Amino acid sequence: MDCIFCKIVAGEIPCDRIYEDTEVLAFLDIHPKTPGHTLVIPKTHSENIYDIHSQSLTAIMSSAQKIACAIKTALAVDGINVIMNNGAAAGQIVFHAHLHVIARFAAGSNTSRHEELGIVASKIREALL
Ligand code: 5GP
Ligand code: ZN
Repeated sequence: MDCIFCKIVAGEIPCDRIYEDTEVLAFLDIHPKTPGHTLVIPKTHSENIYDIHSQSLTAIMSSAQKIACAIKTALAVDGINVIMNNGAAAGQIVFHAHLHVIARFAAGSNTSRHEELGIVASKIREALL
């Protein structure tokens, strides 16, 4: 199957890994909306909310919670969005189910920090420990 996220799970395409367990992989988005923008995906392929197994959905949401807490600690954010795009009309581009965990910063705070993805990833991983 020609799925870019399945290739990331298989290690065929590199990623800045944040978290991994038997069911879930989390890694930084290659085009972050803000620093720390993380994608949380089930290791088993499904397209989106319509076909994802409820156990996988529970697993990615539970991981997104832990990762949101780690991002909050690591990056001193003011807010966090957890978003799932389902279907092209909803903005879905990659058809392997995923949650976006996106940090938000209050108006006036410095959102123009552009750190290397690898540095941001290690800060979040440390906060997860
Ligand atoms: P969607 O719009 O489908 O919810 O979002 C897909 C996300 O995957 C986009 O934000 C995009 O930047 C990200 N993305 C696409 N290809 C890759 C990739 O090869 N590696 C990583 N880390 N992110 C990707
Ligand atoms: Zn896939």
